[in-house]
Amino acid sequence: MAKAQETVLELNLNSLSHNFEYLKSKLKPSTKFLGVVKAFAYGSDAVVVAKHLEKLGVDYFAVAYVNEGIVLRENGVTTPILVLHPQPINFKALIEHCLEPSLYNAKVLNEFIETATKQGQKDYPVHIKFNTGLNRLGFSENDIPFIINKLKSTKCVKAKSVFSHLVASEDLDEKEFTENQIKKFISIAERFADLIGYKPWLHLCNTSGLLNYPNAHFDMVRCGIGLYGFGNSFKEDKNLIPIASLKSVISQIHNIEKGESVGYNRSYRASKSERIATIPIGHADGISRIYGQGKGFVSINGKSAPIAGNVCMDMLMVNITNIECKEGDEVIVFGQENSASNLAESAGTISYEILTAISSRVRRTFTK
Ligand SMILES: *Cc1c(COP(=O)(O)O)cnc(C)c1O
Repeated sequence: MAKAQETVLELNLNSLSHNFEYLKSKLKPSTKFLGVVKAFAYGSDAVVVAKHLEKLGVDYFAVAYVNEGIVLRENGVTTPILVLHPQPINFKALIEHCLEPSLYNAKVLNEFIETATKQGQKDYPVHIKFNTGLNRLGFSENDIPFIINKLKSTKCVKAKSVFSHLVASEDLDEKEFTENQIKKFISIAERFADLIGYKPWLHLCNTSGLLNYPNAHFDMVRCGIGLYGFGNSFKEDKNLIPIASLKSVISQIHNIEKGESVGYNRSYRASKSERIATIPIGHADGISRIYGQGKGFVSINGKSAPIAGNVCMDMLMVNITNIECKEGDEVIVFGQENSASNLAESAGTISYEILTAISSRVRRTFTK
């Protein structure tokens, strides 16, 4: 692998294949695999990732918003796509691009049926979302008679699946809560199927649900972060490979004396003679100011260099006093050796946030 000579997000499609196969190996052969590719496939490249997953045999995709699904369709992705959080203003475009809505309350159900009716659709696939404890999106169990009535009153739409979302699947201290959520989901699903007269697919698990609750895989799992190489636990992180490495380069090195400061507002001050390297990546690229002031760090020639002072818009400075390096040397912001989850933890956040924050200004490159 050639060393980075500018800031790039390097994506390894072999690692994506590895993660997909590992996660699939946890499922029964009949369980379908939905790849979650929302938010540019967790900050990578949704089109490239989706096309690679199609080749590997993924069954379904999910995105959060309609416009994300449209981009996939316009780039030739043909696998069914569930839109997790659509708004009625986009229902016409959703249907035109063969996307499938999650219907999560009476307003979206009514408006979707109205749009599908106007367009003369028949059995248009929709996915009925229930709230089983997250209190974010979804019908409540009490809404079942209303939903069934609505669905039985039209031939335009058909419930392809019934689903819900786990609250704390990665947190084994909440195992009892999760088991109760699973029970609640089963009771909702059984009542729904009884009343509607057929069996929609059921799905509940995200990545940690898939890994921690094999009894809850149902007909399909919805897997996001695992595909990108994170298992939300020390044990599972070892079985997965981060697909993204954020690399950069040392633009300039300054030797500074005790008492000199670094960066805006002088928040870093040298306590002795020090060496400071400037890296061409800043908060506009997704490395938030929260990583500044010594919290975050990068890796240079295998050694950890803490961020000195405030992160600027287009660059940040790191302390390289104890590291042998020169201008032009490669910098690893995160990758396989210093993982995005460790960097995220240094600032009190999670891998999901730092991955999805890397802005479109950072060029994506691909390796196999
Ligand atoms: C984002 C999302 C997922 C994927 O979660 P991971 O923890 O990344 O696997 C699954 N289901 C829903 C409803 C989501 O919003």
